[in-house]
Amino acid sequence: MYCAKIISRISFKPWTSRRSIACLAALPETHQMLQKTCRDFADAELIPIAAKVDREQFYPAEQVAMAGDLGLMSIVLDEKYGGTGLDYQAYAIAMEEISRGSPVVGGTMSIHNSLYLGLLEKYGTEDQKQRFIPGYTDGRKIGCFALSEPGNGSDAGAASTTATLKGDRWVLNGTKCWISGGYEAGNAIVFATTDKSLKHKGISTFVVPMDSKGISRGKKEDKMGLRGSSTCQLIFEDCEIPKDNLLGQPGYGFKIAMQGLDTGRIGIAGQALGIAQASLECAVDYANKRVAFGKPISKLQAIQMKIADMSLRVESARLLTWRAAWLKDNKKPFTKEAAQAKLAASETATFCAHQCIQILGGMGYVSDMPAERYYRDARITEIYEGTSEIQRLVIAGQVIKELSS
Ligand SMILES: Cc1cc2nc3c(=O)[nH]c(=O)nc-3n(C[C@H](O)[C@H](O)[C@H](O)COP(=O)(O)OP(=O)(O)OC[C@H]3O[C@@H](n4cnc5c(N)ncnc54)[C@H](O)[C@@H]3O)c2cc1C
Repeated sequence: MYCAKIISRISFKPWTSRRSIACLAALPETHQMLQKTCRDFADAELIPIAAKVDREQFYPAEQVAMAGDLGLMSIVLDEKYGGTGLDYQAYAIAMEEISRGSPVVGGTMSIHNSLYLGLLEKYGTEDQKQRFIPGYTDGRKIGCFALSEPGNGSDAGAASTTATLKGDRWVLNGTKCWISGGYEAGNAIVFATTDKSLKHKGISTFVVPMDSKGISRGKKEDKMGLRGSSTCQLIFEDCEIPKDNLLGQPGYGFKIAMQGLDTGRIGIAGQALGIAQASLECAVDYANKRVAFGKPISKLQAIQMKIADMSLRVESARLLTWRAAWLKDNKKPFTKEAAQAKLAASETATFCAHQCIQILGGMGYVSDMPAERYYRDARITEIYEGTSEIQRLVIAGQVIKELSS
């Protein structure tokens, strides 16, 4: 049985500065407790509803609130703002375990923690923190992150949504697309250009309450995977917000988005790892039970090769993810490492889900078993918060810089 109060009793802070990277091989006891709590929660509450969430495109509000009760919906936010105040390694671990049960709850948790609360905590004024954080720490209300537009996804600096200052109000016009949680979110972090001539240096960041006049939502996208979370356009037509909803300095929006995505990629790596681990567990379980040619297929070397490759990739990606989190916890640069973690984990998720289908044979191809859902859910991790191609560009840019200096 998982204990709903356990996370709030765990204090990780004293560990962070003393721990060495060697601890990635053996988690401290407190992180092990967190891992077990999240795994038990996923087994009891998330796995039983995962197929329904997918089939009915059903947003699991109750389960997100339960994750909130465990402290997961504000896991890294400082306790003084009502957060759980854990470190990023704890975040990566929790993200994996929750996404092993439900990548929909995991994805909601990642965007809310990294790209809503994380950005408010880092760039918000005290007044903004008091206005936009209370009520958003326990999973009952969530925030969303609106960067992409119909004309620009990877090229995020080419934003064409505008924000114009009129008196004491910003007026927003334009369309954001692919916004995860667009239907459920109470507030949105929105990127809009305040000076087009400056290109990406003219982008600024705003906190926009979703009940503001002048916002409408497009239809829910009919997605391949992650079908329980809403994804939609946000359309701004003379949408007015107070002047002091500008987050950070004017013109710093692109930087804020990129820094947010660095952290977000640790979360998405965790989400991908959860799908990969679930695929591995499903494949081994099936291989032990399925008999062909007189013995369980787990005795066949061709199947064992697949299981070996899956586990190798999962554990490698997990170490990369924990390393990125460790660097962030220790206030060291982690842009390259977060991109490596996200790239490795997302390609591992697709690989493992693909192999899982193969090991299950025909049963891998039908919705009676979760393998085909794992595959559909895995694919998004290679696309959002920067495609695999963009991760490779980020990594190569950093490596070339390191080796050329
Ligand atoms: C389900 C879902 C949820 C999402 N949630 C959000 C959200 O909450 N908030 C948000 O702001 N956005 C969100 N997105 C948007 C997502 O981040 C973008 O789809 C992604 O960044 C890719 O942008 P694009 O779709 O415009 O593809 P494009 O940028 O048009 O890319 C198309 C292809 O070209 C490749 N490519 C592009 N540029 C280069 C380059 N320079 N070098 C090499 N290859 C390149 C890409 O890798 C890709 O393979 C979501 C998307 C989906 C599908």
